Formats: sequence, C-alpha cells, structure tokens
Amino acid sequence: MEVLFINPMNIVQLENYRQRLFLLKQEVVKSLTEESPGVVELDQSRMGRLSRMDALQDKQIAIEVQHRLKRKLQAIEGALNRINNDDFGFCYLCDEAISEARLSFDPTVTRCLQCADKISD
Ligand SMILES: [Zn+2]
Repeated sequence: MEVLFINPMNIVQLENYRQRLFLLKQEVVKSLTEESPGVVELDQSRMGRLSRMDALQDKQIAIEVQHRLKRKLQAIEGALNRINNDDFGFCYLCDEAISEARLSFDPTVTRCLQCADKISD
C-alpha cells in the first residue's frame, strides 16, 4: 500500500489547530465588538480637563487594541485558509516545515524560527 505524505502533520493535529484557531477567532471577534473605540464618548460639559485627557488616552489605547485585534484576526483567518489549502505548518519564506513547538505556541505563525530571526515585524 502506498502512503502519500502531503503534509507532515496528520489530520488529527490539523483538526486540533483548526479548532484552536476557530475558538481564538471567536474570542478576537468578541473583543473587537466589546472594545470598539466608538463607545468612548467625551462629555465635555461634565468632565474636567484631566479626565478629558484620560478619556482621550483611553480612546487612543482602545484604537490601538482594535488595530492589534484586527491584525490578529487576519492572522487567524490566514492560518485557517492555510489549513484548508493544505499549506498549514510551512514557512511562507523558505517553505520548510515550522516546528511543532512553535506552532502549538502560536498557530498563526507564518515563518519558521530561522526566517523569523532574519526579519522581525
Ligand atoms: Zn523559513
């Protein structure tokens, strides 16, 4: 019997990652809705100058959190697409398999350790 290894990872592992990514995605989508910077309102008549600055700073932080969450969401969707396309677990720069330890730490990684060392983002 001939066994064809398309992906070094087996179906069970891939399904585990898919499940993890799916849950992660739900979490991120939930926080994206909850932490919308649109809910921060500045009531200038009631607030002192310092609390206005606080509110502005909070809003700034909320916007940065949103950006981070959106990037995370893109990374998760990318990883889910790679699972569907049988590309998951390979470095997108050198095409080598990404180590299991690295993937289980963060399933959205797109580069192997060597390539991640070369270019940081
Ligand atoms: Zn690589």
